[in-house]
Formats: sequence, structure tokens, C-alpha cells
Amino acid sequence: MRIEFLPAYNGDAICINFKHENAAVNILIDGGTKQTYQTKGKKNTIVNGPLKHLVEAIRERNEKIDLLILTHIDDDHIGGIMKWLENDKKALKLIGEVWFNSGKTIASYLNVSEIKIPELQLVPHDTTETGVGQGVNFEKLIREAKVWNEAIVAQGQCLEFKGTTFKILSPSPAGLKALHDKWFREAPDSLTAVATDYDQSLEHHLSKLISDPDGSIHNGSSIAFIWVHNEKNYLFLSDAHADTLIDGFKLFEYDKENPIPAEVVKLSHHGSNRNISLELLEVIDANQFVVTTNGDKHGHPDKKGLAKILKSKSNPLIRFNYPKRIDDIFTAEDRKFIEFRTDTALDGIIIEEE
Ligand SMILES: [Zn+2]
Repeated sequence: MRIEFLPAYNGDAICINFKHENAAVNILIDGGTKQTYQTKGKKNTIVNGPLKHLVEAIRERNEKIDLLILTHIDDDHIGGIMKWLENDKKALKLIGEVWFNSGKTIASYLNVSEIKIPELQLVPHDTTETGVGQGVNFEKLIREAKVWNEAIVAQGQCLEFKGTTFKILSPSPAGLKALHDKWFREAPDSLTAVATDYDQSLEHHLSKLISDPDGSIHNGSSIAFIWVHNEKNYLFLSDAHADTLIDGFKLFEYDKENPIPAEVVKLSHHGSNRNISLELLEVIDANQFVVTTNGDKHGHPDKKGLAKILKSKSNPLIRFNYPKRIDDIFTAEDRKFIEFRTDTALDGIIIEEE
């Protein structure tokens, strides 16, 4: 079994590969930013990124991405997937099954009446889109390709996949409801091909300013889970909220009296201080933590967040898929002050077991 944390810029793209009944199984969790698939080099040459290399390698081995989990619609998770689907006509043929919570599926799950979305064309990728806009496009593609059973993935569920188990920690019903409301508020806008926003009233715009303060609704809708393989737990926390994760652990009977033993923890939200709490760390009995980001855009991880790990674990190993971040964060003084380990790996961290 191996887990690869691709260098996905400031995003997440994680591939798990293992054997089930003598067949190779690949699970892809998110696709990073669009550059993770492809980017432009000098003189407009096209440079293939780690996601493209991964996809081609899987194709060459005659394997599939048996399961694609899109945890949420922020660009640093969906961007690379959309770029792949738009550039590779055979992409969807390579995907076995998708887990994704769209506004429409949340609507039926929560039993709230759905607001009608106008039927529109696929928006070209390079136009400015909100996360919801990309989510709507993704939903349309996977529905048409029949790789999605439209089932909600939510806190408390126990899902079996190829001899392994996913215990879902996030999103909570509240996180889903918040995404649902945002989705239907924004979806019609993101799908109209207008170049200006003059056709909406000031009243409409002003109401939006108030009701949409930041992207944390997207993070609150993140699919986060305990992945159980050969009776060992691996934590993939996406960008989920710390409180939601604690509630999720509780549903599987883990709390500070009975913390979950875990081999590795993919830290939530690229090691943001806001997504790491001491209370959350009390529920997790682990010594290996992974930070996935190159530090662009949001300045993640926060040293403050990592300090919480150092406070609550003894001599932990903190791993980075962009090792150059390590020396930006920790000084020699820091290392004298408290004992911890960091390690480096080129082209993303690979964790191999058995
Ligand atoms: Zn993210």
C-alpha cells in the first residue's frame, strides 16, 4: 500500500494505491490546483504537472482511478480535476466511481426544495469562476458519464470500498446546509455567460456582500475521513473544521479518553492554525503529520498550528510535500527549544506500508 501526496501547489492531490483480491486499486483524493495537471512554461510551451503524470502512469499500467473523492469545491482541490477533464477526452473513462456532494444532492438529502438552475453550457476553464461554478460543471460531467451515484457522503457514515473502510468525519449536516444555501445563491450567477454584473440590482449585490464573508463554508463542506486498511487508521482531513472533526470522531466512539490510533494524519486545510485545535489533537493518537502546500496564497502552514502539534505530541514527525517550506518555518533556535522531526522527499511524500 502506498500513499502519495503529490506536489499540488497550494492544494491537495493524494493518491492511494493498494491491492485488493490481487488487483491494483487506485483512489484519488482531490486534484490540486489546475497547474497540478498542466501549466504553461517558457514561450507558451505546455508543461505537464504531477497529476497528468499520475494519470498517464495509471493508464499505462492498464489500471483505473477506481474511486475519485472530490472533498470540496475550492480551486486548490477541484482545479486540477477540471483541467484534466477538459483536456483529456478519455478522462472519465478512467474513473470508476466518484464521491462528491453537490448542491442538488444535498438538497434532496436535507429535504429542502431545490431552486431551479438554468441549463447552460460548460464554462471554459480560464474564465473567472467561483468554486460553486466549477462544482456545477463537475456535477454535470460526472452525471453524464454515469460514474456518480449521487449519494451524499456525510458525517457518521461507514462506507466500504474494495476491502477497506471509510469512516466519514465531515461534513456535518450543518456544513452541508451551509454549502447548499451558498450553492443555490451563487450557481445561477456562475453559469450565466455575462461579462458584466450590471444586470443585477444593487440590492442583490449588497445582500451578497453580507451573506458571503469568506470561503469557510466550502471548507466546512469538506469530505474528511478515517481510512481503514488492514486494521490501521489513516486520517485524511481535507480542509474540514476542527469542531466538525471532533464531532465526527465522537460518532465513531473516539474522544480524548479513547483517542484514535492513526498511522498518519493529513492535516486539515494545509496546516492552517484555524483548523488545528488542541482539543482535536487530544482525540488523535498519532506521531506522523503531513502538510500539503507550497505555501502560496494563504501562507500555510501556520507555525502556530504546528506549535500545537509540538505541544501535544512528543517528538512528532512533521512531513512536507514541499520540503523547502521547512527552513522557512523552523529556525535552529526552534529546534533547540523543542524536539521534533521533519523530513524531506522529492516530488511529494510517499508513505509505504507492508
Ligand atoms: Zn485547500
